[in-house]
Amino acid sequence: MLEIWTSQYYLGVFIFLFGLAVGSFLNVCIYRIPLPDVSIHSPRRSFCPECNETIKVHDNIPVLSYLLLWGKCRHCKARISVLYPLVELATGALFLFMFHHFGLTLEFLLALAFIAVLLPISVIDARYYIIPNVIIATGLILGVVIVCVISYQRADIWYLLIRFMGAVAGGMALWLIAVIGGAILRKKAMGGGDIKLMALIGLFLGAWPQLVMVIGFSALSGAIVGSALIISGRKNRESPIPYGPFLASAAVVVLLWGERLWGMYLRFVGWH
Ligand SMILES: [Zn+2]
Repeated sequence: MLEIWTSQYYLGVFIFLFGLAVGSFLNVCIYRIPLPDVSIHSPRRSFCPECNETIKVHDNIPVLSYLLLWGKCRHCKARISVLYPLVELATGALFLFMFHHFGLTLEFLLALAFIAVLLPISVIDARYYIIPNVIIATGLILGVVIVCVISYQRADIWYLLIRFMGAVAGGMALWLIAVIGGAILRKKAMGGGDIKLMALIGLFLGAWPQLVMVIGFSALSGAIVGSALIISGRKNRESPIPYGPFLASAAVVVLLWGERLWGMYLRFVGWH
């Protein structure tokens, strides 16, 4: 019993550290993808955006380096955004939580891929109001591969079909909402990026009832946070509010607790 516990414990520590490393890579994506003149692999090494000095390997350890350097560049002392260690910590914590929830399964692998695309999408959308195609495409490829493997392992073709349907239905549902919402509000209610993101979410979660829950939760949380921002004077009615982070967080909630919440809902309305 104790041996199982300790091996799970070490595995958990390893997964958390692995998450920190992945988060460090996601930071590179978050910083570089929206910029026109740098790419993911060139320049090869990370650099300080203020003084362009290459960051040494020992100054590039996730979270730890940020703390040891007091959040400043060693060379020019420019402040490093607290967003970087936060993204690393969030990735580590979410990876560990997914391990706790799914165990060492293929569904766990699917959840890790999901987190690794949703996190940079959320941060980039919140900062620049765009959802880069390259991240959507990476997510679609990862999702299709892992979903195919799970479907094969379970010898369950429905698992695959329902997720392909989810991708199509998700994209179409948000496209419809964008068209109808645009006609009613007489302004652009939703971007093409949100439509592609919803297709991606459908691929990872499946169609019914997951998609309905994601749309419901994201609309609700978006409305609450949006009103709070307007009331507190941080945004006005005309300023855009990125929808990506709300879709992404709703998707994670549904991935983890969707079935249970849907069961509770059915019991509540008295259908079961
Ligand atoms: Zn610097």
